[in-house]
Amino acid sequence: MMIAFDLHIHTRRYSGCSFIEYEDLVGQAASAGLSGFALTEHGMRWPDAEFGRLRDIAAERGMLLINGQEINTFDASHRSEGEFLVFGLSRSLTKECPAAELVHTVHEEGGIVIAAHPYKLARGGKSHYYGAGDRVNQLKLDAIELCHPDHGEAAMKKVRRAMEELKIPGTGGSDAHKILQVGSCVTVFENPVRNEDDFIREIRAGNVTGVRS
Ligand SMILES: [Zn+2]
Ligand SMILES: [Zn+2]
Repeated sequence: MMIAFDLHIHTRRYSGCSFIEYEDLVGQAASAGLSGFALTEHGMRWPDAEFGRLRDIAAERGMLLINGQEINTFDASHRSEGEFLVFGLSRSLTKECPAAELVHTVHEEGGIVIAAHPYKLARGGKSHYYGAGDRVNQLKLDAIELCHPDHGEAAMKKVRRAMEELKIPGTGGSDAHKILQVGSCVTVFENPVRNEDDFIREIRAGNVTGVRS
């Protein structure tokens, strides 16, 4: 059986922009055939007790839940340096900081950083992105989101080039804000993922591939 995780999901519980009721998530992920999924709310990770309850429900269905977060970064003049998925941390990252500082902080605390939709085009701009864009080449990232609903062929080509140069894997995530989007892009793992440690280690080792399902 394919080991597929949706690495990028927002729920209405903690992301105001999402329509997904978390109570519906586990069932939908199961019907999408997922081995698990990650919650990546904007600017915060789920509180441990609450996350634990949802994780237990998922475990009953044979799925693994990962508690992540999606963090926006800013330069000194408050311009965005792109969004990043963060895993393996035990706290929410609430302090505004530049992308390089975020990567440094997360690594110090034993986590991993994945550039979220680095080449998602911003309105009206050919080289303006709602993501890190070419900045990915200057960062010590652990992976880059390759398959994302807003990444067309041109964006994926740019991501693949960065993956090759940086020797890091490309992941997939639906960035779901509506329930039926869950599982539309996934990360396939080559080896079994039984817990968060496996999850982090396998991404670090590059044993993952982003695919559109
Ligand atoms: Zn985002
Ligand atoms: Zn997102």
